Amino acid sequence: MAVTTTPSPFAASLAAEIGQLKRDRVYKRLNYLETPQGPRVRMEGRGEILILSSNNYLGLCAEPSVVQAGVAGLQAYGAGTSSVRFICGTYAIHRTLEAELARFVGTEASLSFGSAWNANEGLTASVVGEGDVVLSDALNHASIIDSMRLAKAITKCTTAVYRHGDMDDLVSKLESARGARRTIIWTDGVFSMEGSIAKLPSILEIARRFGAIVAVDDSHATGVIGETGRGTPEHCGVLGDVDVITSTLGKALGGAAGGFVAGPESLCDMLTQRSRPQLFSNALPPTVAASALAAVQFVTNHPERVRTLRENTRYFREQITEAGFSPLAGETPIVPIIVGETATAIQMSDLLLAQGVFVTGFGYPVVPQGQARVRCQLSAAHTRADLDEAIAAFKTVGRKVGILK
Ligand SMILES: *Cc1c(COP(=O)(O)O)cnc(C)c1O
Repeated sequence: MAVTTTPSPFAASLAAEIGQLKRDRVYKRLNYLETPQGPRVRMEGRGEILILSSNNYLGLCAEPSVVQAGVAGLQAYGAGTSSVRFICGTYAIHRTLEAELARFVGTEASLSFGSAWNANEGLTASVVGEGDVVLSDALNHASIIDSMRLAKAITKCTTAVYRHGDMDDLVSKLESARGARRTIIWTDGVFSMEGSIAKLPSILEIARRFGAIVAVDDSHATGVIGETGRGTPEHCGVLGDVDVITSTLGKALGGAAGGFVAGPESLCDMLTQRSRPQLFSNALPPTVAASALAAVQFVTNHPERVRTLRENTRYFREQITEAGFSPLAGETPIVPIIVGETATAIQMSDLLLAQGVFVTGFGYPVVPQGQARVRCQLSAAHTRADLDEAIAAFKTVGRKVGILK
């Protein structure tokens, strides 16, 4: 039973800070779902709603073979490893999954982590030292940013940020880095707030010129873009050329949790020796490893699922534009619709939810002032009827908030 007492000064000061978040209208409320992730779910207190804000790009969260593999993994190996990997926490399913992931993303080897966050954090600090340089695109994911902060604090490496997608700025940062023992260029493959794609061919060409290493976080791209879903390198025609790829198992590949680093065998071996999330945190639960393995096998055997996602994306982008909205142009299933003010984005998202359509509004400071947006994400599991319903709701709400005439 919950205990009620007078709040401690600690609890009271936190409550005051939360009060301020609410007054600033940046307080996040959690929506509880009662059914598996899918195009339509039952949301506590709201009934059935249509989701256009999930990373369930291929609809694999509830795919029977993925769920069944998880159940079988649980029965075969039990709930978990109860140890970090090098002590007694590795199962054969981890090795099978890692080999399959490496094959899928086009590298020699891969190493799984409890999350992509851990993979990124484990990678940066383990491969640089004093005098090394790490460069980052300005819009990189928070986990990359934090991995660089940590690496800098631990190893005294140098870090710098280049303007988003700006190759001239990247070159100028590399010129200032000349003489470093190792230089790493870190980029998201697909940028989650814009839906834009990293210019990998240019980045690779520049990196080769300067002897730099390219690390791509493909979390929003693995299973999502490229002819057969193998991510940004496949999309850009450079499959097999990127030095290091990191990604998540928590989005298109089953959506449970987990992440990985993929690259040369020696890199994965070094991370097993050195990276702190490997050395001091448990492996993926075997049930999650089994589901993720089934998800990779599913994408490999069903490239048509990736094609459906591409067709849904094209249809939605076309229809929402025709309806009078201004989505950021692009090819990925992340479709941000710019509405201007943060308050408008929040209001739209609330009104859409009242209409049974779940999309998230993002405002300042997550995105620049005046560029608040509602971000739609498509899934291969959406039917045309789902998408038409979403477009109709957008039209109604767009008129209500005064974006459409
Ligand atoms: C979602 C995401 C992550 C975090 O993934 P987890 O496996 O949930 O930790 C890391 N990087 C990028 C680019 C992401 O989009």
